Amino acid sequence: MDFDTIAAISTPMGEGAIAIVRLSGEAAILIADRLFKGVNGKTLAEQGSHTIHYGHILDPKTGDVVEEVMVSVMKGPKTFTKEDVVEINCHGGLVSVNRVLQLVLSHGARLAEPGEFTKRAFLNGRIDLSQAEAVIDLIRAKTDRAMNVALGQMEGRLSRLIRRLRQEILEILAQIEVNIDYPEYDDVEEMTHSLLLPKAAYVHEEIKKLLQTSQQGKILREGLSTVIVGRPNVGKSSLLNSLVQENKAIVTDVPGTTRDVIEEYVNVRGVPLRLLDTAGIRETEDIVERIGVERSRQVLKEADLILLVLNYSDQLTKEDENLFEAVKGMDTIVIINKTDLPQQIDLERVHELAKEHRIVTTSLLQDRGVDELEEAIASLFFSGSVEAKDATYVSNSRHIALLNQSLQAIEEAIAGAQMGTPIDIVQIDLTRTWNLLGEIIGESVQDDLINQLFSQFCLGK
Ligand code: GDP
Ligand code: ZN
Repeated sequence: MDFDTIAAISTPMGEGAIAIVRLSGEAAILIADRLFKGVNGKTLAEQGSHTIHYGHILDPKTGDVVEEVMVSVMKGPKTFTKEDVVEINCHGGLVSVNRVLQLVLSHGARLAEPGEFTKRAFLNGRIDLSQAEAVIDLIRAKTDRAMNVALGQMEGRLSRLIRRLRQEILEILAQIEVNIDYPEYDDVEEMTHSLLLPKAAYVHEEIKKLLQTSQQGKILREGLSTVIVGRPNVGKSSLLNSLVQENKAIVTDVPGTTRDVIEEYVNVRGVPLRLLDTAGIRETEDIVERIGVERSRQVLKEADLILLVLNYSDQLTKEDENLFEAVKGMDTIVIINKTDLPQQIDLERVHELAKEHRIVTTSLLQDRGVDELEEAIASLFFSGSVEAKDATYVSNSRHIALLNQSLQAIEEAIAGAQMGTPIDIVQIDLTRTWNLLGEIIGESVQDDLINQLFSQFCLGK
């Protein structure tokens, strides 16, 4: 395909000492050569592909040195966009990187639209749509773990799996065609039905598995909703504060964060947590007392993780026991706080009540035990509920919707085959499944959908 040459600052604004101006397109090297003067006197066009060169950017009008730079030259098609790509690494901060960008733009390049580099990679066949979407997720990824998910997806795991399923369906469809071509067998319909059923069941199973991962994907992107419960004065607010202080709070742009339920996002060793802020916590303080064990169980069920706080220097009360009852079967970590004070609590009873739940002792006042708590949170979610990072996660709502539709289509095909529906009807459902899966990897999408997706990108990606 033929595109003009685009350019943008491709490093986050104001972050880091190095800023990169990236160019992509047929004239990328030519434009860079109009501005770049290398120390060895050679032009960039004379250099080999995938090489990096030290020199200066000069303003051709005045001959002034604008910036000291390292310039990478990458010739297509072995680049992210499959086009010629030049990256100008600037050291002098925002002002000079902007001057370099302005020069590039006044010497033949056009300012890239948000997401346009990735869009080109897609249009030039370098990546498929689900990989492009993974880049969007990557840009938005709020935590390390979400970043890994996005990266894994970018490597094409999901795409490979979807391709395999489509291939499976194609084989079923081919089988049907073959059988239809031999109508001399009068039991051909029945035979075809029984042949396709196990294969269709396999596809059905795989789609279902993928959908099950979507819940985890959502958790990883939005944070595990974490509720801190405990009697008044045990140290819930202190716990929230120390988790927020020790871990960089994640700045979130998630809509719906209202004044009365403020949420704190923190990243605990790669586990994103959505903690209820004090307003919310005050509400849960006497939750059991207010609404009873059954109701509070319902409320707590919405949480992905519960931190149940007890007071080491106080005896267990009926309220504590009720809390244990309320969190039964949920992912819970029991925290025995105030260990700096004399012991009053019956530890044996706590172990009895806690059963399978992990117990951590802390003195939040003396800043002790928080590391162990963080370790417990991380191991709970990386060894248990949340699978190892090489799993395929589906975390994109468009993918989830398409997978749900695919699941429904394949279910209809299976039901049809089981009921002896005419084979051409079953064929329609199978083809529909194939098309829906194809949409996930961008093999049957309309142009406007593509544009809509790419316009969500940040500038320079
Ligand atoms: P909440 O009512 O459960 O939210 O409890 P707070 O976090 O507001 O704490 C209640 C009181 O206990 C405050 O005065 C805290 O400073 C104090 N506190 C919290 N953690 C500890 C601790 O580990 N040791 C001691 N001695 N006091 C603590
Ligand atoms: Zn409190």
